Amino acid sequence: MRVEAVELRVIALPMVSPFTASHGTVSTRTAVIVRILGGEDEGWGECAALPEPTYSEEYVDGAYLALQELLVPRLLATEGPITATDLSSLFVDIIGHPMAKASIELALLDAHGRRASTSLAQFFAPHPPGPSSVVPAGVAIGLLETPEALATDVSTRVAEGYGRIKVKIAPGRDIAFVRAAREAAGASIALSVDANGAYSLGDAKTLSDLDAFNLAYIEQPLAADNLLDHTELARRISTPVCLDESLTSAVVTREALDMGACSVVCVKAPRYGSWLEAASILDHCAGLGIDAWVGGMLDCGIGRAANIALAAHPGATFAGDIAATSRFFTEDICAPFNVSVPSGNGTITVPVGPGLGVTIDSGALSKLTIRTDIMRR
Ligand SMILES: [Mg+2]
Repeated sequence: MRVEAVELRVIALPMVSPFTASHGTVSTRTAVIVRILGGEDEGWGECAALPEPTYSEEYVDGAYLALQELLVPRLLATEGPITATDLSSLFVDIIGHPMAKASIELALLDAHGRRASTSLAQFFAPHPPGPSSVVPAGVAIGLLETPEALATDVSTRVAEGYGRIKVKIAPGRDIAFVRAAREAAGASIALSVDANGAYSLGDAKTLSDLDAFNLAYIEQPLAADNLLDHTELARRISTPVCLDESLTSAVVTREALDMGACSVVCVKAPRYGSWLEAASILDHCAGLGIDAWVGGMLDCGIGRAANIALAAHPGATFAGDIAATSRFFTEDICAPFNVSVPSGNGTITVPVGPGLGVTIDSGALSKLTIRTDIMRR
């Protein structure tokens, strides 16, 4: 499409309860929403950056500025039609800002899908999912104050139908907490932990004690830039190591796998700066028989829809951070995604409508918007 106008917004979604990881707490989920317009076409994107630069260097206000001052002007200065695959060259000299870049790519993919009547899931997968496809529901539980509180939360999630539960851990909130989580979950639930880089190699003994709980993986135990220590840790523990924050590109992902820094891959398209690159990484993992799954960023409806479409890729062999909207939010800008539990573990239906397959509720969008700008040619 030829982009003629771009609408930028910051929305603020009230959360059911604050979400805490070792890198900080989110109480209100602000997020940047991108809408591109051109002729009859429109497309929607969401920037995954959190309100504060705690997961990575990007954050809502910074991403908004990067979009407004750097990225969107280039889109609007492009004379002819532009597609998602053109963005890598359009933005080639702008270092960083992967989440902001991915939000524009997502809007272009949505616009293309709407025009071509193809769903995002069809773009992403070499063998597109059928019309009634589902993905397994998975939920992440933040850091809680006591093992008992965690056990109660885990029991609630199991009752809701989640067959995969991920628990945030941090030094001092690990062994007793994971033991409580495993006891509450029972043996059949896929349980994993995410440290968001809070440990060092000196904590290897503590981390090896987690081997007793039959975890599917330990996610990002050490600092994001410390691949060598992850390789060493992976030798010392039997729980598979999964990387999230460390994996900033397809190249880094391949290197981390080659050097044994991880044996499971968390795929987050916004972290890679590209939904198409994320899909290619799932292709790569599938080709090698490496387990992978799609991570989340407390996503609003647009990002959630896109993650669900990506999770339908056959390379996503593990259940991901694919939770119901109601897990985090009391309101959203599109219809909520729900977990259904016909039998066994719960699932979420893959949107199969054109593009993202969701309809933006303009009333809810207006109500939840706290800042907006329209940029034109
Ligand atoms: Mg993570």
